[in-house]
Amino acid sequence: MAAETPGNPSQETLSNLLHESRRFEPPAELAAGANVTAAAYEEANADRLAFWEQAADRLTWAERWHTTLEWNAPFAKWFLGGTLNVAYNCVDRHVEAGNGEKVAYYWEGEPDGDERVITYADLQKEVAKAANALTELGVRKGDRVAIYMPMIPELPISLLACARIGAIHSVVFGGFSATALRSRIDDADAKLVITADGGYRRGAPSALKPTVDEAIQDCPGVEHVLVVRRTGQDVAVTERDVWWHDLVERQSDRHTPEPHDAEDPLYILYTSGTTGKPKGILHTTGGYLTQTAWTHHAVFDLKPDTDIYWCTADIGWVTGHSYIVYGPLANGATSVLYEGTPDTPHRGRFWEIVQKYGVTILYTAPTAIRTFMKWGDDIPAKFDMSSLRVLGSVGEPINPEAYVWYREHIGGDRTPVVDTWWQTETGAIMISPLPGVTAGKPGAAMRPLPGISADVVDDQARSVPNGGGGFLVIRDPWPSMLRTIWGDDQRYKDTYWSRFDGFYFPGDGAKRDEDGDLWLLGRVDDVMLVSGHNISTTEVESALVSHPKVAEAAVVGATDPVTGQAIVSFVILRGSADESADIAKELRDHVAKTLGPIAKPRQILVVPELPKTRSGKIMRRLLRDVAENRSVGDVTTLADSSVMNLIASKLPSAASED
Ligand code: ATP
Ligand code: MG
Repeated sequence: MAAETPGNPSQETLSNLLHESRRFEPPAELAAGANVTAAAYEEANADRLAFWEQAADRLTWAERWHTTLEWNAPFAKWFLGGTLNVAYNCVDRHVEAGNGEKVAYYWEGEPDGDERVITYADLQKEVAKAANALTELGVRKGDRVAIYMPMIPELPISLLACARIGAIHSVVFGGFSATALRSRIDDADAKLVITADGGYRRGAPSALKPTVDEAIQDCPGVEHVLVVRRTGQDVAVTERDVWWHDLVERQSDRHTPEPHDAEDPLYILYTSGTTGKPKGILHTTGGYLTQTAWTHHAVFDLKPDTDIYWCTADIGWVTGHSYIVYGPLANGATSVLYEGTPDTPHRGRFWEIVQKYGVTILYTAPTAIRTFMKWGDDIPAKFDMSSLRVLGSVGEPINPEAYVWYREHIGGDRTPVVDTWWQTETGAIMISPLPGVTAGKPGAAMRPLPGISADVVDDQARSVPNGGGGFLVIRDPWPSMLRTIWGDDQRYKDTYWSRFDGFYFPGDGAKRDEDGDLWLLGRVDDVMLVSGHNISTTEVESALVSHPKVAEAAVVGATDPVTGQAIVSFVILRGSADESADIAKELRDHVAKTLGPIAKPRQILVVPELPKTRSGKIMRRLLRDVAENRSVGDVTTLADSSVMNLIASKLPSAASED
C-alpha cells in the first residue's frame, strides 16, 4: 500500500497501489523491421518541431508551410502558410502513384454475405461523385454537414467528400437519439444532413431516417437531407430529402481537389459525453493529418503493402475518424470496415472476420475485450488468427488481466499490445508503446510518443517523481490538438487550460512508475478520497478484474462518516461464476490483498450490467448517484437507460457488509 507521506503531500496526489511485474519484449522480427525505432525519441527530443516537420513531409502539400508552429497560448496554428487537400492525400495520390488497384476497404456488412471490396481507384471515383453532389446541393467551403449513418462505405466517402471541398463534417454516432442529434445539428448550424434509411444491428434493420426527420423538425437551417438506401425499409420522403442513388450516381466521377489552408477546419466532433454535456471539438487539416498518419504508421507499424488493418470502432467516434478514415488512408493502408456488432450472428464474428481477411493489426476497446473474456476462451480458439501481429487498445485504461488475455487468446502470445492513450481533443495517439521498441507492461500506456511532451504533476504543477501519481498534463502544443470548442473559445480555455497555467489538462489522472513509465488512472473527477488517500478507480477495478470470478468492475467513492469517502464496487461476474453468499467478502479480501487494506471496498454489488456510453465507456458519475442514494443524473449519453433501473433494483442487498 502507499506509504504515509505527511511531509510531502505531492507524493499523495494520487496513490500508486498496483504493482505489475510482467513484461513483454517486442518480437525480434518486428523490432528488426520496425517502421520506427528508438532513434525517433532522440530526434524528437533534440528538435521537436523538426521532428513534426519530417512527419508532415510524409504528406503531399500543394504549398509548403513557412512557419511550423505559432503558439499564442492556448491557441495553436501548425504549418502556417501550407496548403493541402486532405482527400487528395488520402485517396488520389495513391492512385497517381500506381496503387489504384490496391484495396482501401474490405467492407463487411452485418447480414451474412454482404460485402464490398473498394479499391483506391474506386474510392477516388466515389469521393469525386459525392463531392460533386454536395456542390450541386449548394454546400460550400466552411459549411457544416451533419452525418448520421451506419458503418457503410458511404460514410467514409461522405467524410472525404466534405474534406475535399472544404466543408466541415460533424459526424453524430448512429445510435444517438433525435434530441442528441438535434442539439448537435443546432450547435454546428449544419445545412445538410447525410443519413441512410437504416443500418443493420443485431440481425435486424434499424431505422435512422425517422430520427433525422424528428431531429430537424425545428431546424430551418437544414436545407437538404441526403439519404443512402441501405436496408430498403419504408421511409417518409419530404421535399428536402434527396436519395443518394438519384443524386450522387449521376455525377461525374472526376473532381479537381482544391488545396485548403493547413488551418482550415476539417471537422467538428462532439466528445462522447462520459462526464457531462458533449463539447464540439474542432480539428483542422494539416497538423491533424500529419499526426494521425504518423502515429498510425508508428504505433501500429503499418506496412501498407502487406498489412490488413482493422479498427473495430464506429466512425461516429474520434477513433474511427483518425484510425479508420484519415490515418490509414493517408498511409495507403488496406482496412476492414465492419457494419455490425461482435455477437451477430454469433459471438465469434470478430474472429471469423480476422480469419477471413487475414487481419494483421487489430485495434479495439477494453470494454470489448472484457466482454470477450466473459464469453469464454473457447470462442476465439475456434478460429485461425495466426495472421495477427499487432494488437491495439483504446478508450479506457486496459486492466492488466484484460491485456494479458488479449495477448494470449487473440494474439497467440506473440503479438505486442499497444495501449494507446488519447482523446477526441488530442485528435491522435499521444501516449503509447511502440511495438518494435517498447517492452510492454500489462496495463501501462508507457511513454509519450516522440514529439509529445506529457508529464504527471501534483496540484502545484510540479512533476511527480518516479513512483508518484497525479494529474496528466501535456506541456507543449502538438499538431493534431483541438483548436477550440466550436463557437466557444471561453469554454475551451476554461476546460483545458485553466487548471494548470500553460499546460493542457486532459482531465485524467496518471502515475509514473519506478521505471518512469506512465499508467493512466481514470478521470480525476472520479478519484476517491479514502482516509486521506487519493485512490484511483482504475487500480481498484483492475484488482477486481484480476479475480477469476469477475468479468467487469466499476468503482466509485461514496460519502462515508468514518473515512470521508468509501469505495463502492459494482461487479459483473464471469459467465461461469455463481453469485455465492460470500462473494462480497471474497472480493473485498482480494482487493485488500492486492492493493492494501486502504483500497478495500466498503460494498460489493453484483450487477447484470454497467452503465456505459454508446462508445462503451463506463459512466461512473451515474453509479455515484446510486451509491449515494441520489436521483440519477443526466442519462442521455447512456447506451441503454434501462440499465440504471436494473442496477437500482440490486441495491438493498448491498446495504450492510461489514
Ligand atoms: P467527455 O469528454 O464528453 O466526458 P469522453 O472523455 O469519454 O467524453 P473521449 O474523447 O471519447 O470522450 O474519451 C477520451 C477519454 O477516454 C480520455 O480522456 C481517457 O479518460 C479515456 N481513455 C482513452 N484511451 C485511454 C487509454 N488508453 N487509457 C486510459 N484511458 C483512456
Ligand atoms: Mg473527455
